[in-house]
Amino acid sequence: MLPPFDYHRPASLAEALFLLASLPGTKKILAGGTDLVPALRRGDLSPDHVVSLSQLAGMREIKEDKGFIRIGALVTFSRLAEFPLFLKGPYKLLAEAALQVGGPQVRNQGTIGGNIVNASPAGDLLPPLTALEARVRVCRQGGERVLPLAGFLTGPGRTCIHPEEILAEVDFPALPERAAGSFVKLGRRNSLAISRISLAAIVIRGEGGIVEEARLALGAVAPVPIRARKAEALLRGRKPSPALLEEAVAAISETVADSLGDRPSAPYKRAAVRGVAREALIKADPRFASGGC
Ligand SMILES: Cc1cc2nc3c(=O)[nH]c(=O)nc-3n(C[C@H](O)[C@H](O)[C@H](O)COP(=O)(O)OP(=O)(O)OC[C@H]3O[C@@H](n4cnc5c(N)ncnc54)[C@H](O)[C@@H]3O)c2cc1C
Repeated sequence: MLPPFDYHRPASLAEALFLLASLPGTKKILAGGTDLVPALRRGDLSPDHVVSLSQLAGMREIKEDKGFIRIGALVTFSRLAEFPLFLKGPYKLLAEAALQVGGPQVRNQGTIGGNIVNASPAGDLLPPLTALEARVRVCRQGGERVLPLAGFLTGPGRTCIHPEEILAEVDFPALPERAAGSFVKLGRRNSLAISRISLAAIVIRGEGGIVEEARLALGAVAPVPIRARKAEALLRGRKPSPALLEEAVAAISETVADSLGDRPSAPYKRAAVRGVAREALIKADPRFASGGC
């Protein structure tokens, strides 16, 4: 059963921000409800007010604008998984991650904004967005701030959003066509897996077939997603080959070991990430499997 609260369904972002700024007592924002409703049912939360974003159609848009891709916070996993821009090329990692979330019902309801604000270390969209170097636009009555996702996420289940603020949009710089992306997750079960370890990879090809830039973001190995900086540095300026793949895989595994220290899951994750990393890098650039150009 849900605890008692007053339910509000504002018709505009301005009205939602006004309610959050002016209602007395505790408030919670409702997007798809896939995290919030179970938490209310369990009695983990008992807000005085629930402010639903369901009427804010403007926050369901995906746009390409002035060199940025902008995704409204209410865009669902299903929409990300079928949006044409994300079906191939550099942004494919977003569709791949969205498609692996929960079951169809969760994908139809759950939103990108909710996944970010929920800030689970296993949140599946967080590694791809980290690799894409995403920023979040957070609005409050009379103002807004834009900050890197990496600074917005502060720990497991924690962000620096204030209760009167709404995450309106996430954006990231457009990538060149010579970039490719992939996402690989090793989960507990197939359909309702909560990610145990995941890797989002972006590989940008440079002249002569070298790796101009690699961005590798690991999920579920630290309180927030982390970049595998050693592997990124060793890939830069070199031609993909099976030998280089193994060097990168070893560096990624070291990053996981450094991050987990002596946690019980460390030996398993350190080994498991090797398969995840191989698959993600080969998907992003098949020359890691075959060499050649
Ligand atoms: C069965 C099941 C399986 C799942 N499997 C996965 C999985 O495989 N991978 C995965 O990553 N997640 C999974 N989840 C978790 C969940 O679906 C996601 O975290 C989802 O993205 C949350 O989005 P939502 O719109 O439902 O958020 P809500 O539940 O509505 O909100 C979540 C939190 O974010 C806040 N919030 C939401 N939107 C905003 C906003 N725009 N501005 C400010 N605050 C906001 C809410 O107040 C609340 O605190 C699963 C959940 C269930 C129930």
